[in-house]
Amino acid sequence: MSVTVDLSSKTALVMGVANARSLGWAIAEQLLAAGCRVGFSYQGERLKPELEKLTAGHSGVWIQQADATNEEEMTALFARAKEEFGTLDMLVHSIAFAPRGAMENRFLDTSPEDWNTALSVSAYTLVSAARHAEPLLNDGASIVSLTYHASQQVVPKYNVMGVAKAALEAATRYLAADLGLREIRVNTISAGPMRTIAARSIPGFSGLYDKGARNAAFGRNATPGEVGKLALFLLSDLGTGVTGQTMYVDAGLSIMTVREGQE
Ligand code: NAD
Repeated sequence: MSVTVDLSSKTALVMGVANARSLGWAIAEQLLAAGCRVGFSYQGERLKPELEKLTAGHSGVWIQQADATNEEEMTALFARAKEEFGTLDMLVHSIAFAPRGAMENRFLDTSPEDWNTALSVSAYTLVSAARHAEPLLNDGASIVSLTYHASQQVVPKYNVMGVAKAALEAATRYLAADLGLREIRVNTISAGPMRTIAARSIPGFSGLYDKGARNAAFGRNATPGEVGKLALFLLSDLGTGVTGQTMYVDAGLSIMTVREGQE
């Protein structure tokens, strides 16, 4: 069965593409293939050339620098979205950060500064982006972010980022309630381990990745392309009626303890 999604009359803002491996880019590729007009924001000027290269050749695309924790830059970003598109149908939040020290030491030793940074960048920015977007969002619009199973179970070294993801998932439910009467949907995708820049900064990530591949129900990890397809479902009209949810695309890793023979 093939389902064709036509987003040629739709607009999206994707926040958090660093390079071709970024999960935000896997989502953007699906949106662009469906004909959507897409704006991108990137954290700092260092990332601009890569994003320019990725988006070259796609029509209806614009890019703008915006650190998601910087109120002035967020105001300017959504002013640009208004100028370019008038209104928005989709918002993708694909942003996370925790200081490396907070992921190397014991969780017990998390400093208030590192706690605030991780929670602010990785969870509060979803609330801030949704608030900035609200006046532009059409009724029936859809917001998607990215989370990870360390919000539910202890994953070694994930530490304060696990707490940040739990906050992101709870924020998803509260935002879904606030925006629900306009049928604006807010969901978060819980992705299995994938080799991206953010993942590489997690101590021991490659062991986690290999273990995921051995223990997942599919005997492999999920792929960025599969994240992109779930996002397309949630962002398009295929996903009407779904809001406030954490949806897993992890090749069945979170349902397993260990795969038989892998103990
Ligand atoms: P990535 O490094 O490609 O993307 C992370 C992005 O966050 C980068 O573009 C970075 O510039 C941006 N960012 C960080 N701080 C920012 C700030 N203050 N303002 C604006 N942007 C900022 O890595 P990724 O793995 O694609 O991460 C995207 C999302 O997917 C994150 O929320 C991450 O936690 C989530 N996720 C990743 C995995 C994985 O294994 N890679 C698994 C589950 C969830």
